[in-house]
Amino acid sequence: MPALPSEADIFIAELDAAVEAHMNWTRRILRCAVLRTVPGEDVLDPLAHTLCHFGNWFMSSRDHFEALDAPSSRCVEAVHKTMHDAIRSICTRMLAGQPGNHADLETFEQSQSELLVLLARFKTLILTQAVRHDPLTGLPLRYGIENDFALYRKEARRNRTLLYVAMIDVDHFKPVNDTHGHLVGDMVLRQLAGILKGTLRSNEPLYRFGGEEFLWLLQCKSVAEAEQSAQRLLAAVRGASVPIPDGALLALTVTLGLARVREQDDLSSAIMRADLALYDGKKSGRDRYVIADP
Ligand code: GH3
Ligand code: MG
Ligand code: MG
Repeated sequence: MPALPSEADIFIAELDAAVEAHMNWTRRILRCAVLRTVPGEDVLDPLAHTLCHFGNWFMSSRDHFEALDAPSSRCVEAVHKTMHDAIRSICTRMLAGQPGNHADLETFEQSQSELLVLLARFKTLILTQAVRHDPLTGLPLRYGIENDFALYRKEARRNRTLLYVAMIDVDHFKPVNDTHGHLVGDMVLRQLAGILKGTLRSNEPLYRFGGEEFLWLLQCKSVAEAEQSAQRLLAAVRGASVPIPDGALLALTVTLGLARVREQDDLSSAIMRADLALYDGKKSGRDRYVIADP
């Protein structure tokens, strides 16, 4: 079955189309210069950079660019405008029968190549992000955890807070696949990831660790606060029946294993302890949390 195009695929296709449209625009300018015909309003208008296909698309995708890299996004806007200003100046002189200006030409060439370099960098950024995210749930995959763990650990030391690594495993998920099929299983996993993500605070990253397992980094002031957060998460899953295509509602639960990151821990030892706690939670009945060596 062909995979549906992801958000990244769509964005990259649009970016390619916008660059292609820009190259066609450049070809049109060249024809106007050589054949001495009048270029359109999207060249002569003072706001030409917002009228061309690329400019239009860039403005409508601005939030996406900003989220990827805000300073580079501002550079794209600036060099694109500079390029249009230079071309307008060249065309205005040409239409007035004056010779072209060397500096304008230089500016045009330089800003156009800067624009193309910036867009190529954005494309790489989108692809890098796409491979680091799970296409099913949209959650980051485990590759980034090591880096985030180091940052969170530093922050926890600075703020004198506790850092927990929590492993979350869906209870009895295999029967969901066995009863309703793998596609419904996928759908359920996607919805469950949304429920988990919606319960956590913005500074509590959640990763798809693998299969029906998720990893959660939790910063808190006390053990009691960690327990409350774990309870809240369990209650959110318990309280949310997941609709499936045959109209039924599936009741799900998860089990959590939490390990407080101690001085002697690294990420893998913390994960190992969280995993053992999770195993205890499974053995003792599921739909609960267990804290490793509390
Ligand atoms: P337990 O409560 O002990 O965790 O029981 P379980 O059935 O959840 O555990 P088990 O490890 O036996 O089964 C996990 C299942 O999760 C088996 C596997 O096919 C399914 N699974 C893992 N990843 C995916 C996925 O991406 N999509 C679907 N549909 N199923 C998945
Ligand atoms: Mg599992
Ligand atoms: Mg499971």
